[in-house]
Amino acid sequence: MPKLPLIGDISRVADEGLEGLDHNFLTGKIEDLVKWSRTRSMWPATFGLACCALEMMATGAAHYDLARWGMEVFRASPRQADLMIVAGRVSQKMAPILRQVYDQMMEPKWVISMGVCASSGGMFNNYALVQGVDQIVPVDVYAPGCPPGPETLMHAILQLHEKIESGEITQRRDQRAGGAGLIVEQRDGQTATKMILGQREQTSG
Ligand code: SF4
Repeated sequence: MPKLPLIGDISRVADEGLEGLDHNFLTGKIEDLVKWSRTRSMWPATFGLACCALEMMATGAAHYDLARWGMEVFRASPRQADLMIVAGRVSQKMAPILRQVYDQMMEPKWVISMGVCASSGGMFNNYALVQGVDQIVPVDVYAPGCPPGPETLMHAILQLHEKIESGEITQRRDQRAGGAGLIVEQRDGQTATKMILGQREQTSG
């Protein structure tokens, strides 16, 4: 297989043109570079609401080490953050504050809903709690579990990275006119928690 220094594999060029070239410094697109850099400089906002937040903190600590993706410093100011991890149940009183934090974050920004409480109200089917944070902010990834362990949260983060790099996140946002709405698997060894989204529409209709 012909492989040139700095250019890479050229065996597919005859059939596919420049698309057949390996990515390299000559053919790399600025768009790809921007998408790549977004995933390597994603800074979460410091924002924990309930028990799920302890798992989120554990994810940032040395044993799991979010520093691998440059994410270990949760930003104290939303103006320095582009990832909101909604970790825990959202009370009606907290909802406007959560939205304000989201509004103050940088664009482009991403939201992970961590745990069944944040995603659908979970076991708290009552008037005091928001029955799904997607009523307040657009959610890109739902991480199931009560609580989702650090492995599940990291899986959600990696899925988000992958979809940003591939551009699928933007397509899904356009199609759904909101957040991308990806649901990941539970990866922490706990019994999988069933996450029922869209319950409000079913019961109200
Ligand atoms: S999903 Fe479970 S761990 Fe997370 S906030 Fe709700 S009750 Fe707490």
